[in-house]
Amino acid sequence: MSVLVRVFPLGLLKSNVYLVYEEETREAMIIDAGGGSQYVMREIRKEGLKPKFILLTHGHFDHTFELADFREVLGVEAYIHKEDVWTLETLWDSGLSIFGLKMPRPSINKYFEGEPSFKFGSQLVKVIHTPGHTPGSVCYFLSDASMLFTGDTLFQGSIGRTDLPGGNPSLMKKSLKKLLSLDDEVVIYPGHGPRTTMGKERKSNPFLLDLDSS
Ligand SMILES: [Zn+2]
Ligand SMILES: [Zn+2]
Repeated sequence: MSVLVRVFPLGLLKSNVYLVYEEETREAMIIDAGGGSQYVMREIRKEGLKPKFILLTHGHFDHTFELADFREVLGVEAYIHKEDVWTLETLWDSGLSIFGLKMPRPSINKYFEGEPSFKFGSQLVKVIHTPGHTPGSVCYFLSDASMLFTGDTLFQGSIGRTDLPGGNPSLMKKSLKKLLSLDDEVVIYPGHGPRTTMGKERKSNPFLLDLDSS
């Protein structure tokens, strides 16, 4: 079964929204909900896709800004790690105020603990808990398709900030070490910026090189 990915870099701070679907079954999932719900919906209609759920990498406003719209237009539930319900609830107002915005905070009614798996089509989506950027930051791993959605944990050539409320540099190090156990072929789809691979990052990302020596 082949898995296709469309990226919509339309969130505040250009956060990426990913529409991920299985070509044969047309079943789909959405990763993060920063913006572009109308564009994602248009693509879903055009391709005849069946969205199953929204998965959030963490609770920062730039990844959840249009969450209420996404849930409404798609008619599906959104899931987040339990520890990032705190992030969403605590940082929503202050985050938006940077942009001079004031909006009602989206409600979260589905959260998970630990590292469960989700399923769309025949794809298993494994949660990897990677605290550091926020307490409930996670990556989503599709092992059959060799795809990893890293949110604000790992970027091309960089990593997420650990100096915001709830951030923790030593947990970030542990989380990155966990990701280093994945194969070089794994394609990384970050929360901001272009995609990359585990092999490229292992060789050239200064923050990962730093880990190896420590
Ligand atoms: Zn973030
Ligand atoms: Zn972000």
